[in-house]
Parts: sequence; C-alpha cells; structure tokens
Amino acid sequence: MSKVLTSGKLNEVISFLISGGKQVVAPVLSGDKYFYCAISDSGEAVFDSAVKSSGSVKEFFFPRHEKICGYCHEGKELVVTDAELFSGEQVIFGVRPCEAASLPILDKVFGWDFQDRFFQMRRERTTVITLACEPDDFCFCTSVGLAPDMELGADAMLIPAGKDNFEVRIFTDKGSAIFDGNLSETKSTSASETESLAATTATTTATTSTATTANVTDKTTDKAVNLPESKFEAAYVQRYLTDNFADEVFDRLSIRCLGCGVCTYVCPTCHCFDIVDEGGAFCGERVKNWDSCQFAFFTHHASGHNPRGNQSARQRNRIQHKFRIYPEKFGHILCTGCGNCARQCSVTLGVLPYVEELEKKAKASNPPYSLHLFDRRAEILDKKTKTIDKG
Ligand code: SF4
Ligand code: SF4
Repeated sequence: MSKVLTSGKLNEVISFLISGGKQVVAPVLSGDKYFYCAISDSGEAVFDSAVKSSGSVKEFFFPRHEKICGYCHEGKELVVTDAELFSGEQVIFGVRPCEAASLPILDKVFGWDFQDRFFQMRRERTTVITLACEPDDFCFCTSVGLAPDMELGADAMLIPAGKDNFEVRIFTDKGSAIFDGNLSETKSTSASETESLAATTATTTATTSTATTANVTDKTTDKAVNLPESKFEAAYVQRYLTDNFADEVFDRLSIRCLGCGVCTYVCPTCHCFDIVDEGGAFCGERVKNWDSCQFAFFTHHASGHNPRGNQSARQRNRIQHKFRIYPEKFGHILCTGCGNCARQCSVTLGVLPYVEELEKKAKASNPPYSLHLFDRRAEILDKKTKTIDKG
C-alpha cells in the first residue's frame, strides 16, 4: 500500500502549519529564479521535481549571518550577552534529496570538536520534507553514492504520482506528525502510473535535460526514477588526490575561475565561516558570517603572505577537502552531486570537471591505480604508524 496526498490536502497541511505559528519554507519563484523562502501562504510554494533552487537549503540551518553574542562596556565592566538560540519550529517542503543529504554530513563538522548549538538547535527543530528530483545535466548524485529519491536527511518524501497527487514516504516520527490524518492509502503505484510520473517530470524538464539520464528501476523501491548518469568513481578520485596533491589539472582548469565564491555559497555542504565583531569599540555583536575558500583573502596572512595565492591553489583546496580530507576524517564525501556549483557558476566550472579528469588520470596511470593496492598500502601505513606510536 502507498500513502497518497492530494495537492489540495498538501495546501491544507501547509496552511495549518503556518496558522499554528511554524515557519514554513519552500521553493518560491522570484523573478525568473527559484529560492527556498519562508512563505506566508501555501500558494507561494512550488512543487515541481524539475525545479533547482538558486540558493541552498543550508541557510535555514547555517544562516549567512548569525549573532553569537553581544558585548557592551559599562564603565570598567565588559558585559557579554548570549545570543538566543533558535527556539521556533520550522518545516521545509520541497527540498531536493541531494540538499537534504547534506544535513547529516554537516552534522559531523558542527558536532565534532565543538558542539555548535546554533546549528544543532535548528536541526533539532526542523522537519525536512523532500520532493523526489528530476535530474538535469548538472546533477551527479549517483557518482557520490546518492540518488534522486534518497531518504538521507529527510523526515518524509513527496513523489509526484500523476496529476495533483503525491505518494508520501514517511521516514521519521517528525515526518509522520506533519501529515497525520491527511494521507489516504492506495494500492502500490502501478508501473503505468510510474511511467506517467516520469513522463510528467520529463515534460517539465525538456529544456534543461534528460539527454544524459537513464530511466532505471530503483531496486529498493521498485519504482522507475530517472537516475543521472554516473560520471566518475569517487574512490579513484580520493586515491589519486592522496598521491597527487598539486596536480597540473588545478592550474589548467582554474584559469577560467573568477574567484567569486558563488560555488561555495550555493553548495549545501560548504560550511566555512568567519567570526568578527561588528559594531563600535564599546558595544557591538560578535557574529558568524559565511566565508569562502575561493576568496583571495581567505588565507591571506597579516604578514602579506598568502599560502593559497592563486585560484589554482584555492580550487585545489576545495577539491582536496571535499573528495579526500573530509572523507578521511568523517567518512563522507563532502559533496552530494547536486550540481549547484556549476549550475550557478558564471563560467560553468564547479567541481565536476576536476573530479572527472582526476578519475581519468587515476585510471590511465601506469602502473594502473588499483583500489585494492591502495587499501593494502593504507593497511601497511597504518601498521607502520602504530609501530611508531609504540616507539
Ligand atoms: S568556480 Fe565558478 S562560482 Fe566558483 S569561484 Fe570560480 S567562477 Fe566563481
Ligand atoms: S560541490 Fe557542487 S555538486 Fe557537490 S554538493 Fe557542493 S554544490 Fe553540490
């Protein structure tokens, strides 16, 4: 049996949440682009599997500007006031599964050596409802182990099922609570209905994609979804980066990079920020502001030296961090294949051209890169390290 929700019922659910004082966020059309925005009316939300928001949902967990404390001199005393943690509740609808998948990945870095309660409170008090995605030419979620109907990071998922209907998959109690009493049960979606879903979504994306997608049956759901073509094997990229820290590919491809930082701002997994005091010498606020490894001043030392003095070095850092350093440290690739970095880049660069070339180089190496051999080498290095540790 499938759980089904009509679009009319979905509007009722959203209206009920808004009238109950919850912040509801959804993709909204603004000019000719879509953004995740807080809405005051269910009619503002756009539920279209082909829509790719121009921003990232991360800003509802990790705002681009956030006060962490206030300070004020009173006579000879410095009075510090804590900033309030997020205490409301928010429900975010229509999140792309690759954006939702970034949230458990970010949990690691915001709950590692320091517990960032600003991020964590928003995570705890937010319900994420994804919308199964229709990939476009920029998407490569399957290359990093994800899929357009992946449940990672989601509390529930909506899957368009014919005109004005959604199949609803519930993953958590939070997701269940949102739709409580509004779902009807129906026999499992038939193959023909599924094909109609693929046809419906394909129609809406005719101008953006499908040339590189393959219609494949998802074995876990027995439902046809359009999977983006797998573009590289991430394990080869990681292995190659380990041995080739400063490969020539960074110089060659980064010539066209403008250093604007847009790719990092729209990336659901990028999380660099700066802490600065804003205000006067006597009173002000200490705030977190988004920063970007693609900015020239990001690593600029007070001495004037910059260890990443050009775009090649900055892009190298980004790729090394996402595909080698973060996986080594936290066990996740710091990329969900959402394609935002290229989709929003004015020179259509993003991470994909780098990793595709690095993977090709790994496979063309002589002797060829063998993942088995690398695993063996890691084992040997690990043993050596342990021997050294023991003295
Ligand atoms: S890759 Fe594109 S978006 Fe990123 S810094 Fe370079 S020009 Fe800007
Ligand atoms: S690096 Fe690019 S494709 Fe990967 S998560 Fe960030 S924006 Fe998406």
